[in-house]
Amino acid sequence: MTVGAPTIWARALHRAECHNIVAVLASTEQRGFDETLFYKIASASRPGTVHGVKIECTAEGVRSSCTCEAGQRGSVCLHQARAMRDAGLLPDLMLIESIEEAKEELRIEVVDPMAEARKRAMALLMGQKPVA
Ligand SMILES: [Zn+2]
Repeated sequence: MTVGAPTIWARALHRAECHNIVAVLASTEQRGFDETLFYKIASASRPGTVHGVKIECTAEGVRSSCTCEAGQRGSVCLHQARAMRDAGLLPDLMLIESIEEAKEELRIEVVDPMAEARKRAMALLMGQKPVA
């Protein structure tokens, strides 16, 4: 599973936090600039079961996988979300479910500094005869 779609990760992380899932960094592997992290995470639904999450950080990006059922299907699961968060690869912003929500949260205002200039240029163009 390549890291993408923030909403999916936000939901998975939310589920992990609801279940009080704890990730334990079991081992790391370093090959040049590439790093692979292995996490052990206790199952939320099956006591005694431990899932393994592998996070590969390479120049191409971050990939993660999990030994649980969802993970084996290639889905983002709460174990991967928990491990990614612990590895510092899932920022807090991922908790914000949508851009609209993010805008509200951060009070982002989209300002287009060129809007006025474009409007003036358009008005000028409209007043001119089309060039053949
Ligand atoms: Zn999993």
